[in-house]
Amino acid sequence: MKKILLAIPLFCISLHAFCWGFYAHKRINYYAVFLLPPEMMVLYKPHINFLSDHAVDPDKRRYALAAEGARHFIDIDYYGHYPFDSLPRHWKDAVSKYGEDSLRAHGIVPWWIGIMMLRLTNAFREKDQVKILKLSAEIGHYIADAHVPLHTCSNHNGQFTHQQGIHAFWESRVPELLAEKEWDFFIGKAVYISNPEQFMWDRVLESAKASDSVLYMERLLNKQFAPERKYAFEDRNGKLIKQYSTAYSVAYNNMLNNMIERRMRQSIFAVASCWYTAWVNAGQPDLTKLSNRTFTDEETKEFEKLDKLWKLGNIKGRDCE
Ligand SMILES: [Zn+2]
Repeated sequence: MKKILLAIPLFCISLHAFCWGFYAHKRINYYAVFLLPPEMMVLYKPHINFLSDHAVDPDKRRYALAAEGARHFIDIDYYGHYPFDSLPRHWKDAVSKYGEDSLRAHGIVPWWIGIMMLRLTNAFREKDQVKILKLSAEIGHYIADAHVPLHTCSNHNGQFTHQQGIHAFWESRVPELLAEKEWDFFIGKAVYISNPEQFMWDRVLESAKASDSVLYMERLLNKQFAPERKYAFEDRNGKLIKQYSTAYSVAYNNMLNNMIERRMRQSIFAVASCWYTAWVNAGQPDLTKLSNRTFTDEETKEFEKLDKLWKLGNIKGRDCE
């Protein structure tokens, strides 16, 4: 048995890393539905499984479209020090200062969320059910990504500090282990956001501020755990996977003082509040009277194509790992 374990290469440390992990993204969209007012619940509740399942489409699209990757992160430390005042918050001003190619190379998540907000608001105005659901599922993904500290930091997988694997550790391993059993997702109600642009930049700055602790605490913990206690082999879908051990994961969560739970709760609140804000800004259309209620064959094929390319696993652009 020991020989078999040793033969498993270290890069099996985690499954392929996805932003927030597929599990957490799906749960964030799912829980966000329960924060909505009854006028929105009439549409969102019956489609809760669609909103949850398609929360991960933007990550799947990274296997189909090279431009997709930049929409999931911003290496804000590239622009100096907190609060990164040298970086203009408006897209046009940022483009004039840094050029579009450079901005894309360092990630554009806050600006992309702005574009998605406009698209979702328009979908509500057009009363187009298919568009509303698809855009709601997808904006939920980008908003959640902006809440992940390592999505706002160039050392996004600890690659500069010998902490490779920390990305998936924070956003996949710990939530998968603890969210269902220990974390509280009773969050209250969605609120109207009067300035969505400012709101998202505030979330990005919170993430950026937290990224140092995310990396530093793991370095501290690493000194307290011998490698054989830090990692464990676990069966996952019939495959033996080398993982951060349960003890290490729980200790990390405690050291971070439940930061991951807090960011997940804040993601849920932000997603629901952005959905609600887009609906209000569109004039609160009656969601029981929408048009275009079913996906066309073409749209269904597009979902299948995303799935297929994702399973092939050739990512275009930057990988979280
Ligand atoms: Zn992502």
